[in-house]
Amino acid sequence: MEINLISDTVTKPTKEMLEVMMTAEVGDDVFNDDPTVNKLQQKVANMFGMEAALFFPSGTMANQTAIKLHTQPGDRIFCDKWAHVYNYEGGGAAFNSGVTCKLIDGERGMFTANNLKEAVAGRADIHVPYSRLVCIENTTNKGGGACWNFDELIRIKEVCQKNNLQYHLDGARLFNALVEKSETPEQYGELFDTISICLSKGLGAPVGSVLVGSKKHIEKAFRIRKLFGGAMRQVGILAAAGIYALDNHVDRLKEDHRKARMIEDVLSSLPYIKKVEPVETNIIIFYVSDDLDSSVFIKKMIDKGIFLTSMGEGKIRIVIHLDFTGEMLDKLLAELKKIKL
Ligand SMILES: *Cc1c(COP(=O)(O)O)cnc(C)c1O
Repeated sequence: MEINLISDTVTKPTKEMLEVMMTAEVGDDVFNDDPTVNKLQQKVANMFGMEAALFFPSGTMANQTAIKLHTQPGDRIFCDKWAHVYNYEGGGAAFNSGVTCKLIDGERGMFTANNLKEAVAGRADIHVPYSRLVCIENTTNKGGGACWNFDELIRIKEVCQKNNLQYHLDGARLFNALVEKSETPEQYGELFDTISICLSKGLGAPVGSVLVGSKKHIEKAFRIRKLFGGAMRQVGILAAAGIYALDNHVDRLKEDHRKARMIEDVLSSLPYIKKVEPVETNIIIFYVSDDLDSSVFIKKMIDKGIFLTSMGEGKIRIVIHLDFTGEMLDKLLAELKKIKL
């Protein structure tokens, strides 16, 4: 039994999901003519109470399109120092949009309205780039699946409004936050100008992300997606998986969170573990003791058929997902207790 916990992107489509993909009605989506894609886009727009949505091949492309549509070359955007848009999108903000990122020194990938106020100060100075956009990430990836406090997100919005800044949410794992905090997509739709969500992470679709926003923003996004080379043809086959995922795989994210907390409990009790970051959703970040080498730990787990990743600086990451069964959980917990380092 191989247990792959390197990411929640490793899931494979279920039999039921494959069934709806095989029978999806399709058309040429470059002409807006794929009924299943249109259905998915309408569904996501409705969920968030926003006007329109657009299907994307990846979360990276959805975020990069959002940055492009809100900015002009030479502008700057604000994000946390751990943000995916800055660290893990290949430098795309600079390459695709010609913008710089003003990094905010937050906690676990999250900052406060006051941090943002300080970062935007002096924006009238001619030496300073035009400030255009604030990017938030919920849940935070590098921050170990942490969820933002919604009241803080409202306070940040107020700073955006005072300073004429657009507000984008990288919601690759937003549904994990929603089920955990009993929040709704509409609450987020009301607050943000654009939101990207991933269907291919905890929701278990093989491919796909959606960008949601106003009609005007999504029309612009449609052109930018073409410019970035991301327009696809009979892509309803993939959109069908997304619709299925939204209908069937949202509530069950709680199950992933429950398993993650059980792993947190065991890790916290083990003598060779120095620290476990507080687990809020489906990501567990922990450190082995200073006298041990995290790469040796990872290697020994691989020998048992258990795959985890290093995030640098001694951080080890486990991500729980749809394909991680109860039986796998039992085996993982047993091996963690048994391992000799
Ligand atoms: C995974 C992820 C993305 C983008 O995902 P793709 O792999 O490009 O689909 C964006 N933001 C965050 C926080 C992510 O975890």
